[in-house]
Amino acid sequence: MPMNFEASRAFAQQMDQEDPLSSYRDRFHIPKLHGKPCIYLTGNSLGAMPKSAREYIETELNDWAEMGVEGHFEAVRPWKPYHHFLKEKAARVVGALPSEVVVMNNLTSNLHFMMVSFFRPQGKRTKIVCEGGAFPSDQYALESQLKFHGLDPNEHLIELHPRAGEHTLHLEDVLSTLESHRDEIALVMMGGVNYYTGQFFDLKSITEKAHEIGAVAGFDLAHAAGNLPLQLHDWNVDFAVWCSYKYLNSGPGGTSGCFVHQRHENNPELPRFAGWWGHKEDERFLMKKGFIPMVGADGWQLSNAQILPMAAHLASLEIFDEVGMNRLREKSLKLSGFAHFLLNRVATEFPNAQIEVITPANEHERGCQVSLLAGPRGKELFNALHTKGVLTDWREPNVIRFAPVPLYNRFEEVFEVYEVMHGILAEG
Ligand SMILES: *Cc1c(COP(=O)(O)O)cnc(C)c1O
Repeated sequence: MPMNFEASRAFAQQMDQEDPLSSYRDRFHIPKLHGKPCIYLTGNSLGAMPKSAREYIETELNDWAEMGVEGHFEAVRPWKPYHHFLKEKAARVVGALPSEVVVMNNLTSNLHFMMVSFFRPQGKRTKIVCEGGAFPSDQYALESQLKFHGLDPNEHLIELHPRAGEHTLHLEDVLSTLESHRDEIALVMMGGVNYYTGQFFDLKSITEKAHEIGAVAGFDLAHAAGNLPLQLHDWNVDFAVWCSYKYLNSGPGGTSGCFVHQRHENNPELPRFAGWWGHKEDERFLMKKGFIPMVGADGWQLSNAQILPMAAHLASLEIFDEVGMNRLREKSLKLSGFAHFLLNRVATEFPNAQIEVITPANEHERGCQVSLLAGPRGKELFNALHTKGVLTDWREPNVIRFAPVPLYNRFEEVFEVYEVMHGILAEG
């Protein structure tokens, strides 16, 4: 339901007072700029640090110092089964069964491992569909997977582009592209939320259509996991990958998550690149020949757990568990709705700046992020925000991304950004 927002500090303060999640801000370190706490709107790039992360990592460092190798069994949280501690919590974030989720590796690595199993070009069915302007790592991954199969990306990669003069995709255009190439598509692999425009795609409808034409549907949820509620199991998504350092606040370069739908959990037909950590758990240490995968997403593991980044991830996931994705979304719709409203207002108030909000107004098509096409003097605007203590990010060619996140950002900060932008643009 669209809210009635007001462009006033009093209104923002009222919203903060009524915010049931306001106390969670204290659970995070809010980064500083120029020596002062800043308005941190880059949780979509690197989430703020949960204060508990230090203690969780320190626990592992202490156990390592005290026990050495015995920590695999004797640590407070034993390292050998460590990924089990994350599984259920990570599954709740993305709407999956615990057996469908595993935390491991890094995002782009997992995307490749998933495509080894799920991109199986055969006969006429050789093409991959993704959104045009996908995150570069995804573009390179798709391109190199195609080449790996001896396919020319220029011919076998179908990119979805907005209509002329528009910035985001229409669902009907996505579906009709799938329809018009129905016998040629092997895989639909898109971002869940596009990193540039902030558009959230209708993963359920896209998956349904992909299946109807006989293709596989996988998603990169780097900008969706921890941002908005997902239901990967119910939506029948085949596979998904995400990182933990953006909305999931688990630290730079943090570990990644991976989803494989239950219906693939024990399919011997799926090829995979295997490692010992994916081997049948009770026989892993028998050191025998012949790989027998664990059932479920665990069977895609290669290596033993990366305890330090996983400890930070666990600290953060516990906060997500406490709050729940639905309550986060409830606040996020208001908080990002407020940002959307105020940024549109600035755009209208200063037509000469030629700025434009490109993130969809429809709340079903966006998460936390609001992207502003920044006009001819975009970079100056971005730098001026930075100088005034507002940390946003710049994405080439011409977008400033604002991502107020419900765990630690406040309505008054969003209002402050509006005032700061006013000041900058009024100076000309
Ligand atoms: C952030 C992001 C990445 C980064 O990949 P890493 O392997 O974690 O470095 C990849 N894809 C998308 C869509 C992203 O948003």
